[in-house]
Amino acid sequence: MQIAKDAVVQIDYTLKDDDGNVLDQSPEGQPLAYLQGHGNIIPGLENALEGMSAGDSKDVTVGPDEGYGPRHDGLIQQVPREAFQGVDELAVGMQFQAQTEHGPMLVRVAEVEGDQVTVDGNHPLAGKILHFSVEVAEVREASSEELEHGHVHGPEGHDH
Ligand code: ZN
Repeated sequence: MQIAKDAVVQIDYTLKDDDGNVLDQSPEGQPLAYLQGHGNIIPGLENALEGMSAGDSKDVTVGPDEGYGPRHDGLIQQVPREAFQGVDELAVGMQFQAQTEHGPMLVRVAEVEGDQVTVDGNHPLAGKILHFSVEVAEVREASSEELEHGHVHGPEGHDH
């Protein structure tokens, strides 16, 4: 069976940046399961996988416009240290849920300098060129319930 809209797909993948650093990968023996054509994964990867079958592999390069979007400087903000009450040690890379005028947003601590903390609400992969090595582990038909929910059920997917 080939990957097409509404197929349940399992992929083993490694994601590297332009310098060859590994940014993310599926754990050994635990491929990522997703529903093709439902926006479960970034468009650039979904498009590249269309038509592939179990056992096929491919290297895919995805730019920001088909990945996690551009970086927005407006999502980088300085906040006073006292905004982090109850946090003893603030370190770069820590993530917090922040209340903003646009609603709750996940931000990362980008810099701590004295009493000033710089937080970044951009997705960590925003603005990056992404290099995926992908191998298709399995392709199967989705159940009607999975199609209704727009995601994969079972041991490799949502459990609810
Ligand atoms: Zn569901």
